[in-house]
Amino acid sequence: MERYDIGIIGSGPAGLSAAINAAIRNKRVIIFGNSDLSSKLVKAPRINNYLGFKEISGVELKENFLSHINSLGLEIVNERINNVYAMGDYFALMVNEKMYEAETVIVATGIEYTKPFKGEEQFVGKGVGYCATCDAPLYKGKTVIVIGYNKEAEDEANYVSELAGKLYYIPMYKDELNVNSSIEVVWDKPLEIIGVDSAEKLVLENREIETDGIFVLRDSISPGQLVPGLKIEEGHIAVDRLMKTNIEGCYAAGDCVGKPYQYIKAAGEGLIAALSATAYIDIKNRKNLK
Ligand SMILES: Cc1cc2nc3c(=O)[nH]c(=O)nc-3n(C[C@H](O)[C@H](O)[C@H](O)COP(=O)(O)OP(=O)(O)OC[C@H]3O[C@@H](n4cnc5c(N)ncnc54)[C@H](O)[C@@H]3O)c2cc1C
Repeated sequence: MERYDIGIIGSGPAGLSAAINAAIRNKRVIIFGNSDLSSKLVKAPRINNYLGFKEISGVELKENFLSHINSLGLEIVNERINNVYAMGDYFALMVNEKMYEAETVIVATGIEYTKPFKGEEQFVGKGVGYCATCDAPLYKGKTVIVIGYNKEAEDEANYVSELAGKLYYIPMYKDELNVNSSIEVVWDKPLEIIGVDSAEKLVLENREIETDGIFVLRDSISPGQLVPGLKIEEGHIAVDRLMKTNIEGCYAAGDCVGKPYQYIKAAGEGLIAALSATAYIDIKNRKNLK
């Protein structure tokens, strides 16, 4: 299996800035994210504070980012990393059962603005999950609810519906849906998850649904779940000025490490994370040569 120098999780300004700076330093990079780069980029109508690009729209800035990374031969792998495991000498980046290997990791997953539902945190691992395809086998023949925040969640819902007895899909966005005909789509606002030992019911604004499991598929999962053992402080990944986390070889940049939530700050931190990862790899390689 090919082992990359740097696995970058996230295709927003932090992740892409890390990628170009690592590529310029001849590092083998793999970027995980999506073809739109970042919903926070394409949704911005007008950006006034990105140096050199006065009054640019988010979509235009996205096109500029894309042409920059393409000019360096970089491509984005359109996959969502579920877990990152520190294996001692390298990191295993998991997409369901598929594994990628990298010497170092840069977490640039952005921040989730939406708050957990009432009761959600209480039932995590007890009927509430964040990776539908990972946990689907637990729900064979059972009733499952998938709350999806983006189109990618539809694929996960379709997959789970093949195993589950009944699947309800609750889209948290307005778009045409591409879900299996067996899925019951519910256009309503989830309010609370209730149960005794595990999640039993989802309370929505206009109805309640009894269930065995609920998957909440937001744009990003919390970094503590993504990388077990990662130190989190006040909801953000704890880093030093070199963007080092508490795990050797693991760096983080952008909104996921703290405020202000701004493009240029994210891009600047991506640069620092790439330089730190590069220095770490170079030192490790020199030691191995001795
Ligand atoms: C509507 C709007 C307007 C804004 N306007 C401005 C502005 O004018 N000026 C300004 O400076 N800032 C603005 N911001 C803030 C700015 O968008 C963020 O600060 C910036 O996008 C942060 O960049 P990032 O790379 O850290 O994260 P993001 O841009 O959030 O990118 C993270 C990426 O990682 C991906 N990802 C997450 N988890 C995974 C995973 N497990 N596997 C694979 N990929 C994953 C996400 O899908 C996303 O593509 C605005 C934000 C919004 C929402």
